[in-house]
Amino acid sequence: MLLSVIVPCYNEQDVIEKTWERLTRVVSENGRKEKYDHELIFIDDGSTDGTLDKILHMAKKDSHVKYLSFSRNFGKEAAMYAGLAYASGDGVIIMDADLQHPPELIPKMVSRWKEGYDQVICKRDRKGDGAFRTWSARMYYRLVNHLVDVRMEDGVGDFRLLDRKAVDALLSLTEYNRFSKGLFSWIGFKQTFIRYENHVREGGTSKWSVKRLLRYGIDGIMSFNDKPLRICFWMGGLLFTFGVLYLTVIFIRILLHGVDVPGYFTTIFAILMIGGVQLLSIGVLGEYIGRIYHEVKRRPPFIVDKTNIKDKGKRS
Ligand code: UDP
Ligand code: MG
Repeated sequence: MLLSVIVPCYNEQDVIEKTWERLTRVVSENGRKEKYDHELIFIDDGSTDGTLDKILHMAKKDSHVKYLSFSRNFGKEAAMYAGLAYASGDGVIIMDADLQHPPELIPKMVSRWKEGYDQVICKRDRKGDGAFRTWSARMYYRLVNHLVDVRMEDGVGDFRLLDRKAVDALLSLTEYNRFSKGLFSWIGFKQTFIRYENHVREGGTSKWSVKRLLRYGIDGIMSFNDKPLRICFWMGGLLFTFGVLYLTVIFIRILLHGVDVPGYFTTIFAILMIGGVQLLSIGVLGEYIGRIYHEVKRRPPFIVDKTNIKDKGKRS
């Protein structure tokens, strides 16, 4: 049996060797006990620091280390997809490079996997996160779960073990705009959760700026269905009904009392309200069109520059 661990890395020169050491220690010991071999796939997502050199160095010392290096930064979603595509394990673990996902959980994950679960999901608490970030995440998930068809949970990230079945299912979803959190949930299979305490980064910095988080948030809502379009439809309908009613009332008043000129408030009200709703709806439309635009181009989600993996997707 083979267990693959895939680790997306973007400018992680400060921690990557530590990650490799801790991972290797845990996985080789556990592998002896549970009788599996392992491979560690590091995906260098176009790092601009010494990450790739460190990875090459590790690969030279340890034959379990495989790597992929992208031609530029394609984002973590692309890196994870590449990892899944190049992994040949019967089970695949996805893990961050910054040790926020403790490798020490792996034995527990493997034993759950052997019990027959196809997705062993690690769920973190929000210890050490800022109050605002915790609150906004909670609000966001409440909103998202109303809007989309799949269930997404707070604290559940990409740290998980996937059985080969689940990996193949994920690989069969070839969309360009990947929102893994949703995809993991969409494919289904038998799932179980392991809770763990949140850790702060061991080194380097987080790549999540507010702008990036916002973009990610919008992706989550837009990638999964067309409900936002329907909301526009209902808003339009509501405003139209309201407008017709209001016009009827005014018209009857004109018939009864004649025309009265002052109407500044109502005019402004109509312009602002309807204009606002229209702009918003056009924006939503635009979002979807933008996504369609990217999908129809059928560009590959990533481009590999260097790798030491010869037989890509051996089993799939
Ligand atoms: N990452 C990546 N490409 C990117 C951004 C991030 O591969 O464009 C990797 C990064 O190296 C790390 C993981 O994704 O292993 C999570 O990133 P980060 O720690 O910045 O996110 P956070 O833990 O703050 O959510
Ligand atoms: Mg992190």
